[in-house]
Amino acid sequence: MKIEYEQPWFLNPKIGQSSANIIMNSSYTISLSFSIGEDYKKDDKVGFFGVPGKNFGVSYDCTKQLLLFEFWTKDYEGNPVFNHQTYEVYFENIFGKEINITLSYNGSEYRIFFNFKHLGSIKCDYPLVDDYINEPLYIGCQNIDSVNVDHRKLTEMDVFHFSVFETTFPINLIKTFVNQTNRDSELFDDTLLCVFDFEDKTGSEHIIHDEYKKKYFLKKKNTSSAQGFEDVKNKLDNVGCGFCLAKWTQVTMHLHNGTTHSCHHPEPHKVSLDEIATNPTALHNSKIKKQARKEMLENERPSECSYCWNVEDNSNSFSDRVFKSSEPWSEPFFDEISKSDWDADYNPKYVEVSFSNTCNFKCAYCGPEYSSKWMEEINDYGPYQLSTFEYNGIKRMEERDSKPYKNSENNPYVESFWEWFPDLYQSMDTFRITGGEPLLSKDTWKVLDFILESKEPNRNLKFSINSNLGVPDNLIDKLIEKLDKIINQNLVKEIIIFTSCDGYGIQSEYTRYGMNFEKLFQNIDKILGKLPTVTIVIMSTFNIFSVFSYESLIKKVYELKIKHYNPDRYWSSALILDTSYLRQPSFMSFRLLKGYISEEYFDRWIKFMKFNSTYRSLNFLQVQTVTDVGFSIQEIEKVSRLRDIFISDKNVDDSTFTQHKEDLNNFVKQYEKRRGLKVLEIYPEMKSFFEQIENEN
Ligand code: SF4
Repeated sequence: MKIEYEQPWFLNPKIGQSSANIIMNSSYTISLSFSIGEDYKKDDKVGFFGVPGKNFGVSYDCTKQLLLFEFWTKDYEGNPVFNHQTYEVYFENIFGKEINITLSYNGSEYRIFFNFKHLGSIKCDYPLVDDYINEPLYIGCQNIDSVNVDHRKLTEMDVFHFSVFETTFPINLIKTFVNQTNRDSELFDDTLLCVFDFEDKTGSEHIIHDEYKKKYFLKKKNTSSAQGFEDVKNKLDNVGCGFCLAKWTQVTMHLHNGTTHSCHHPEPHKVSLDEIATNPTALHNSKIKKQARKEMLENERPSECSYCWNVEDNSNSFSDRVFKSSEPWSEPFFDEISKSDWDADYNPKYVEVSFSNTCNFKCAYCGPEYSSKWMEEINDYGPYQLSTFEYNGIKRMEERDSKPYKNSENNPYVESFWEWFPDLYQSMDTFRITGGEPLLSKDTWKVLDFILESKEPNRNLKFSINSNLGVPDNLIDKLIEKLDKIINQNLVKEIIIFTSCDGYGIQSEYTRYGMNFEKLFQNIDKILGKLPTVTIVIMSTFNIFSVFSYESLIKKVYELKIKHYNPDRYWSSALILDTSYLRQPSFMSFRLLKGYISEEYFDRWIKFMKFNSTYRSLNFLQVQTVTDVGFSIQEIEKVSRLRDIFISDKNVDDSTFTQHKEDLNNFVKQYEKRRGLKVLEIYPEMKSFFEQIENEN
């Protein structure tokens, strides 16, 4: 198994076990077999295994050709003492060969072995420093988190074997165990905390096989490789430089105002009533979209897809044109689409639909187009007056003819949808209902009943539904009851519920106005308890008001991940935190806190998530499966992205945010007046932030 540079793996106790690091035990043996390629020349110092914080671990200094073992103990007064030993091991013995490092401790002496030969011993019966207690043991690094970059000893290695015993054994016994010549003895089973023999069975997929347990586990990489994307891009470009399957296979229909778009990047456009009168599929196969398809098939780039052209022209990254065309709901249809007539109707495979803007919430960053509560407020008080523009006015909506139909009104777009749906239903891969609040729309219940009553159910359908989970109890119970029937009758392939939360407690209720945080989590708990196969995804729109309580939200999510873990869910985790950062309105962006907070916030969250992750985490005693508890690499990466943005903003001129800060201040004043909320009572952490803005104006 390859441990990539700067991506060490770590050993964590399993849920329910004491979180104390193994090295705090009074006796243990750690044995690691690995090789480092001769081409590995990234650093002067490499780390094999260790613990972050105060250095504990075994590493190699390439410049001095010395193997190092170091650790910190407490002296009799509790002061930290650094212990450090070096051993001569020549360069040619380290690189390009399989080697084994074994470290044992018997309560009074550390013994270190290189290729099962004794290198040296350190007598020590002082306790280790407390900094090690709750840290995991890393493989592929030592001291990864050191503030001093030069002290971060990382490496890239192929690991063959890793085991930990709760005691010491003669090195020859360890050798027979590591080399798999004697593994049957009860001797080992009693004291063995974990053993991993790694082999990469599939090349790119990195499935790991645990020989000892005879099980496969942990799929490390996504099956989509960069090479796969390159191939898809070439195929698309052979048809046309702007050819994208999503223009055919994907749709988001905003039935509440009669607009549609293929993916989320192009602005939604209005479909005329004349079009749907003769062709209900015009909700997707509109004249405007067909024109874009024509351009795509004729080697042109439709201007509405400028998002992708920007990415393709200004970076080396793949655009969403490539990613979306690679999806399992796109790629298999390449031939039929590339040979199709641009004017022909096509049934999409990935469908999102919003029936109504009826909603019981009016989140600060949402607006009247998607929330009837917002519409009421704007009708009553008008738009928010900010320095250079009106926020959430409905003038533009009226100009674009995209004002939502009221719930009580007859909506011809919804009627067309139902005309088309029996046919559409059979060909869909993914169907997601969005809103407004879908549970307040009668059409959502009609969809559920349609699935329940269908004579020919589409059992391959991936079905998902958005909900703020803040509706009355009877609707939550009705949802559980209907989904339970759908699941028990095996009528769909999977069901995922998407909800939203951007912070913890009252700090999250301020922006998601209408939400009761406790109630939201009671409902999440209830659904996960009653529907043991369903996964809930919390979509988090990280904004300036999220920062001070996000850590508590992360911990709450982790708590429920553990509580509701079972191996039978459609997705690997019971609860997923999907963090994206708020771009619009830009005056609510967390980027405004540049200079006010430090990146330590993000570092703490990332550290917690990493140490409680499924990725790169090995467990004592039990084999980890892909369904294991913890944060996934995607969940962690999305939070890491916040940190990256925050760090890169250090080079951005402060004046970039001046106008946005003024807008935020103006917005908050009007928001407080209309909704009776006091920002500083809820966010005392922002007191001097708002005072600064006041002083600057
Ligand atoms: S080209 Fe890009 S913007 Fe256009 S439909 Fe495809 S993914 Fe969306």
